[in-house]
Order: sequence, then structure tokens, then C-alpha cells
Amino acid sequence: MKKTIGVLALQGGVAEHLQKIEAMGAQKKEVRFPSDLEGIDGIILPGGETTCIGKLLIENGLAEPLRKMLEEGLPVWGTCAGAILLAKEIDGKKNNSPIGLMDIGVKRNAYGKQLDSFIETIPSIPLISSQPISLIFIRAPRFVRLGKTVEPLVEISTAQGGREIVAAQKNNFLATAFHPELGNGTAFHEYFLHHFIR
Ligand code: GLN
Repeated sequence: MKKTIGVLALQGGVAEHLQKIEAMGAQKKEVRFPSDLEGIDGIILPGGETTCIGKLLIENGLAEPLRKMLEEGLPVWGTCAGAILLAKEIDGKKNNSPIGLMDIGVKRNAYGKQLDSFIETIPSIPLISSQPISLIFIRAPRFVRLGKTVEPLVEISTAQGGREIVAAQKNNFLATAFHPELGNGTAFHEYFLHHFIR
């Protein structure tokens, strides 16, 4: 049976995720209201505006039922704004959203404005891509704190010569600061499908 992946479709880069889900042969489903949560095997929270998506989550009555499903183990992947929504702390303060459940702290827009968007190409990522892969950052958050048991998944080099974690995972939670739905191929979507949803 095909697995069904929901995409939170309140605001932001929804269409691109839906296309990737289709491209890898899984079933896609747009999630706008609580009844849309029925029958999904995993959910993607897209990039967009964290404040706007967070507000609509509550207005549409999705926040509490989604929180419950995440606590019960529903695989979830947040890209950019989606990752911010899942973080326990945003800009040094507790995330008040019911779905702020992942033990990471993020700083919004930490790499600058829209014009400071950048693409980082890395040679390969174990388990995800054996080919060079381009990571697209658009007003991306920085992962400033990772809980002890949160696993770093992807790192990039910083201009200062350091290393910086830009994707992390813990149990049913996956968070990427960048936008795999805007790049070529389906490597990250396949990773979510095969390692989280199974
Ligand atoms: N800067 C946005 C925010 O804080 C996130 C940007 C994105 O998702 N591309 O909500």
C-alpha cells in the first residue's frame, strides 16, 4: 500500500512538497483542517512565515490534534519555518505553540534577509545522498541548541571556518533549516519516507 504523506497547507511552500511526494510515488494529502489528519502516515510542515502558519494552525483547530499525533509518534518533518514551529525555543524564548515539541533551540532569520539567501553544495550525505547535493537556505533559522539526544544529520562549513548543524532528528521528528523541496531530486523526501515512515 502506498504511504500517505500530508503537507500542512496553510501558507508557504506547499505545492513544491506535494510535487516531490508525487515524484517519488507516494500519496500526497493537503492538510488544512483536523479531519485532513485522518489516514496520513507522516506530515511535512513547509517553509513560509512561522508566525502566519502558527496562527492559522490554532485558528483552524489543528494545533491540538496535531500535537497529540506527534506525541503518539506520527513522523513529522519541518522545513525552515516548519522546523521553527517544531522547536522548543525560538530566539531564546519558549515556543508557545502546542507543537513546539522538539528539543532544539532556533534563531529565526539568523543568516540575514531574503537577499542573503544562499545555496550550499555538499559532496554527499550519509544515508541520504551519495551524489553532491545543493541545500537552499532562504531566511533560514540557525539551530543554536540541540538537546543531548537530538542527532545532527547535516552540517555545513561557516565563513569563519567552523561547522554548523543545519538538519537534525530525534525519534519521529526531522528538522531541516533549508528547503529540499526547491532543489533537484527527491533524496530528502525519500529519506523521510523510508527512515521515518517506513
Ligand atoms: N524566516 C521565516 C520565518 O521565520 C522562515 C523562512 C522560510 O521558511 N523560508 O518564519
